[in-house]
Amino acid sequence: MTASTPPSVETPETPPIGHEHSDVSGGWLRPAVFGAMDGLVSNAALIAGVAGGTQDATDSNAVVLAGLAGLAAGAFSMAAGEYASVASQSEAAEREIAKERQEILTNPEAERAELVEMLTEKGLDAELAEEVATQVHRNVDAAVAVHAMEEFGVDPDELASPTVAAVSSFLSFSLGALVPVVPFLVDGDALPWAIGLTLVALFLCGAVVTRLTSRPWWFGGLRQVLLGGAAFVLTFWIGSLVGAGLG
Ligand SMILES: [Zn+2]
Repeated sequence: MTASTPPSVETPETPPIGHEHSDVSGGWLRPAVFGAMDGLVSNAALIAGVAGGTQDATDSNAVVLAGLAGLAAGAFSMAAGEYASVASQSEAAEREIAKERQEILTNPEAERAELVEMLTEKGLDAELAEEVATQVHRNVDAAVAVHAMEEFGVDPDELASPTVAAVSSFLSFSLGALVPVVPFLVDGDALPWAIGLTLVALFLCGAVVTRLTSRPWWFGGLRQVLLGGAAFVLTFWIGSLVGAGLG
């Protein structure tokens, strides 16, 4: 054994400290993309079903009417559902925050002791936990914020707005739902174009969603295309059966 060479210096690349995390909750991107995908799939499927059932009819009026009605109905339903969901979530959080504030105001020492306990459970030394809890509890708002985050994972300054959620899902659903309708406004017999455009848009949405995950973009895109494609084939088939039955 001769003088050992220093161990190869292939240290794994140190990640930069200031690295950014993607917003795990997705921020506006998630609801916007999912709203658009919802509009794309549900309206293209609706159109495929109607087109499948009215193949003999040469005019596309029925398809356009169904597409626009589907767009409006879906957008309003999405907005109402989103509003109700986010509002009830925010109201539940507000009630818990108010309860916590009341407890902190009426029983500050017990709440401070509770925070000490939570901090020591997280690994802080008892002495340091005492110090931190005491400083946090000098200010009621700060104490409420820390307790809310620790006890039920809510940041009182960042409650989601039901109006913003409703408006953004209304717009994104409408945008998605419009895609399969447009070809029929140009040309009467446009089902292949409508489905083709919708699948391209679905691929793009699925690829964008992978920005929030660790999946490769083509995987996310392809998955949406397959799911959407299956929905269109099925509804077209059901539409043709019903259309033939109504004959
Ligand atoms: Zn508490």
